[in-house]
Amino acid sequence: MKKVKTIKIDVDKCNGCRACEVICSAFHSNPRYSSNNPARSRIRMVRDPLRDVYLPVYAGEYTAAECMGRDKYVLDGKEYSECDFCRASCPSRGFFKEPDSGLPLKCDMCEDEPTGKPLCVQWCLNNALTYEEREEEVEEDEKPGDAETGLEALVNKYGLEKIKDTVERFGHKQDIKT
Ligand code: SF4
Ligand code: SF4
Repeated sequence: MKKVKTIKIDVDKCNGCRACEVICSAFHSNPRYSSNNPARSRIRMVRDPLRDVYLPVYAGEYTAAECMGRDKYVLDGKEYSECDFCRASCPSRGFFKEPDSGLPLKCDMCEDEPTGKPLCVQWCLNNALTYEEREEEVEEDEKPGDAETGLEALVNKYGLEKIKDTVERFGHKQDIKT
């Protein structure tokens, strides 16, 4: 069995206050809580007050190439582009990139946080974010996971040394093998 962690987003409750971006970037600064910069946040707001659009989006996987076509969606009379919902760290936009190195950012569900509950959820006073956990059965002999294939793409693009340097700089020292 594996534990699956989910954050449910209720866009109707989000008012675009950006507290989630602030706490996420502060938690991931080094030393922890030493600064905050929404550009370092693993959750970003797609925000257009004139159209009453407030859409929180979590950083997901890195992608080396942007999409060729992009659909548009109309929900409750508001138009969104496909990119608005996309979680990828992608070459076509600035979201989910570490500002100094340009390396991709990904939500880690605040894995070292002592309460075990994601900080963006704790700081969202409008209850737009809800944390849920469930157990799922895992089949043996799985194919290489997303994390493995994502790491390979990163090493190909940035080089192993740059990735190692960045990981060490952020205080998460670990062995990276290719
Ligand atoms: S769960 Fe943690 S790492 Fe993920 S976006 Fe929220 S604050 Fe950031
Ligand atoms: S903290 Fe909650 S209400 Fe504020 S921007 Fe983030 S998701 Fe929206």
